[in-house]
Amino acid sequence: MTTKRDYYEVLGVSRDASDGEIKSKYRKLAMKFHPDRNPDDKAAEEKFKEAAEAYEVLRDPQKRSIYDQYGHQGLEGQGFSGFGGFDDIFSSFGDIFEDFFGFGGGRRSANRVRRGTDLRYDMKLSFMEAAFGTETQIDVEKLANCPTCGGSGCEPGTQPETCSHCGGAGQISRSQGFFTVRTACPHCRGTGQMITSPCSNCRGGGKVRVSKKVSVKIPAGVDSGSRLRLSGEGEPGENGAPPGDLYVFIHVSPHDFFERHNIDVVCQIPISFIQAALGDKVQVPTLQGEKTLVIPKGTQPGELFRFHGEGIPSLKNGRRGDQIIQVDVRTPTNLNKKQEGLLREFAKLEDGKFSKKLKNILKGAHAGAAR
Ligand SMILES: [Zn+2]
Ligand SMILES: [Zn+2]
Repeated sequence: MTTKRDYYEVLGVSRDASDGEIKSKYRKLAMKFHPDRNPDDKAAEEKFKEAAEAYEVLRDPQKRSIYDQYGHQGLEGQGFSGFGGFDDIFSSFGDIFEDFFGFGGGRRSANRVRRGTDLRYDMKLSFMEAAFGTETQIDVEKLANCPTCGGSGCEPGTQPETCSHCGGAGQISRSQGFFTVRTACPHCRGTGQMITSPCSNCRGGGKVRVSKKVSVKIPAGVDSGSRLRLSGEGEPGENGAPPGDLYVFIHVSPHDFFERHNIDVVCQIPISFIQAALGDKVQVPTLQGEKTLVIPKGTQPGELFRFHGEGIPSLKNGRRGDQIIQVDVRTPTNLNKKQEGLLREFAKLEDGKFSKKLKNILKGAHAGAAR
């Protein structure tokens, strides 16, 4: 259940306020919260709608008396449920906006051609799919022209009738002072036509929700945050206007072995300290198969090696980045007696070279601290 504020409170008037007072208070609020002055401001939009609803009730003596006696519930019992959106508000009170926005009334002119809504689809890709591209089909939920009536909203075999209120123009004109003002016709909402037998499939709306399969070609090299635009795959436009676009937002799952740094891939391979000391050849996985990495003698922990052109293709020019391999030198554990003996032998041969080096480092550190 939604709780609605008291209409008198919304407009800031007393319960015995005159029509003139109500109108002037509403105008002030409508001006303050008008969507043209508060673009993309949800809070202002709500205030604007709330004020419009309050005004719609309190300006009408019959609705006002029902509301005074039975409150919001009384009006709901009469089928009044407020406004669906701005279009309703502007077509109902076109006249009140003329006063403060000059001629032209509200902001929706009649038969305005409106492009269809853009849609968003979030797509998850594996690391490899993102690296090399893929082609896939997605199901997109969207509004489409009703297949029964072809979008006209009329039951097949029937025709919309010309709106008698505006004679089919979709607009009504009135003179006001020196000006002739035009507003969207409130009876046909600016379309110039009235649907007398609404289509049973779409209830006269002309649109139905469908799930459509769309093929998407993902280029090699996309990354999380990449956005693809599929022109014309959004929702259909109104009155023959072009459809909106479909935006596919890419999210790439991480890989167990490879880490992506722009177009380079980074990986770590473990080698033993023997391999590091003596040098070796090891097989390293790449994005496509394996490659031999030559570990030179005396390799240090953390040292980096590079496979040129084994990275990810650039989205811009297709040139591939590099694979960067970091060696993770491991110290052996669980040595057997013989291995341990050999290492002790080795240590003797080293003749304290390493401990001398350490002494020099420590000396240097102390000298630095004393300075
Ligand atoms: Zn239909
Ligand atoms: Zn009309």
